[in-house]
Amino acid sequence: MEKMLSVVIPSYNEEAMIEKTASVIHTLLAEADIPHELIFVDDGSKDATWQKIEEAATAVSTVRGVHFSRNFGKEAAIVAGLEAAEGACAVVIDCDLQHPPEKMLEMYALWEQGYEVVEAVKTDRGKESLLHKAFANTFYGIISAATKINMRDASDFKLLDRKAIDALLTIKEKNSFFRALSSWIGFKVVQITFEVQERTAGESKWSFRSLVKYAVTNITSFSDFPMKIITALGLLSFVVSVVMGAIALIGKFSGRALEGFTTVIILQILFSSIIMISVGIVGYYLSKIYDEIKGRPKYIVSETCGKDEE
Ligand code: UDP
Ligand code: MG
Repeated sequence: MEKMLSVVIPSYNEEAMIEKTASVIHTLLAEADIPHELIFVDDGSKDATWQKIEEAATAVSTVRGVHFSRNFGKEAAIVAGLEAAEGACAVVIDCDLQHPPEKMLEMYALWEQGYEVVEAVKTDRGKESLLHKAFANTFYGIISAATKINMRDASDFKLLDRKAIDALLTIKEKNSFFRALSSWIGFKVVQITFEVQERTAGESKWSFRSLVKYAVTNITSFSDFPMKIITALGLLSFVVSVVMGAIALIGKFSGRALEGFTTVIILQILFSSIIMISVGIVGYYLSKIYDEIKGRPKYIVSETCGKDEE
């Protein structure tokens, strides 16, 4: 279809949302006369999400589903959805309706005007716990500095033109970070704003552990800054050791007896820990290289439903 919009909806344990999301988005786009397909990517949910998607595909003709063999993460679900998309453009939107679907009409209109990437930027982060907020601030501060893109208010709610989708899909990195890569590819970009809505059903899929993992993975995949810190620490400790060495020598030659065992112990502990942390950081990058080089697929599909099913 000429101007078809593919809507990519990563879904993980969203049984409570599928039916509603499908009907809300379908009705919205049908009323606006926008040819569309809805692609639900079930990221290996443990609840009845897949059954709900199959039901939705039977009930609503424009719904399709892709089912992962296990949970591969939202990033992988986005890639799978974009790979399955057949539209002239695609929007990625959360399944929980926290990204207001009406905004898609605005995005689509901008796309018709010739914009190739339409980014929806948060004006307000919605209700989040204090811990989550503090954590998000730190994470986005670091990643914005590393990528030189303002990630603080960025979201995964974006429209991409076919050209941008194809460009994005040529990126073979296993740890692709959609939010940053969709800026990295360039193209004619425009931003709109939206207010994060509250979740009406189900719960956020982020645990503190998964947030830390997400932060570390994405910072290291976009930046070698942590490795540079090691060099800086090395230089710093070299300067310290020269000064301490000088003091020790002066002490020795001026005939004063050595008394500072405490100093020795403290220095020993300090430098050992710096060295261990540093080795850890280097090891982390090494393991990322190892991951990439194994060339495993980003996701495995176990089932599909909807249009291309016979
Ligand atoms: N999601 C996913 N795989 C995961 C975790 C989340 O596909 O492993 C989906 C989830 O179903 C939702 C979107 O990603 O559509 C955002 O997740 P969530 O609402 O939990 O995140 P938050 O809005 O709290 O940042
Ligand atoms: Mg959400």
